[in-house]
Amino acid sequence: MVIQITGTIVQSYYICHRQCWLMSRQIVPDQDHPFIEIGRLIDSESYDKDRKKIELEDMVIDLIKSEKDSILIGEIKKSSRAEESAKIQLAFYLYRLKEIGISVRGILLFPKERKRIPLELDDDLERKINEMFKDIEKILQSPIPPSAQKIKYCTNCAYREFCWS
Ligand code: SF4
Repeated sequence: MVIQITGTIVQSYYICHRQCWLMSRQIVPDQDHPFIEIGRLIDSESYDKDRKKIELEDMVIDLIKSEKDSILIGEIKKSSRAEESAKIQLAFYLYRLKEIGISVRGILLFPKERKRIPLELDDDLERKINEMFKDIEKILQSPIPPSAQKIKYCTNCAYREFCWS
């Protein structure tokens, strides 16, 4: 079975392998979950001036801006609690764009916290992404999801009914 690795799958891989598997099967989480609602609000209200959301193959890029001598893409998140996973999701976009010959710089934006973190793709990050692809493929090839493990993200995870009821 071939499953497309998307930015959200990459991000969930860093949070929870079970979540990663569930997303890959397009199992839809609870749409009324308050954190999904907050995500939607941030999505529709923040950075309106700069905003140009684009969808490209397996990527949905929140913001794209052309600057003097480069292109900047941004990923907008509601909280920096999962900063590492957000970084790797953005790095994945930079990697995919480089593969098709587009070199860009990245920035992570946390509007509620007024925080911005610039990100550039270097050799180390590329190696990390290649290793991650292999591991994600292994998880997704399994016919059943990894078992649920209680972690701090379960409290706000939209799949928690699915895992813990
Ligand atoms: S509820 Fe917890 S175990 Fe289940 S998918 Fe979410 S983070 Fe993973």
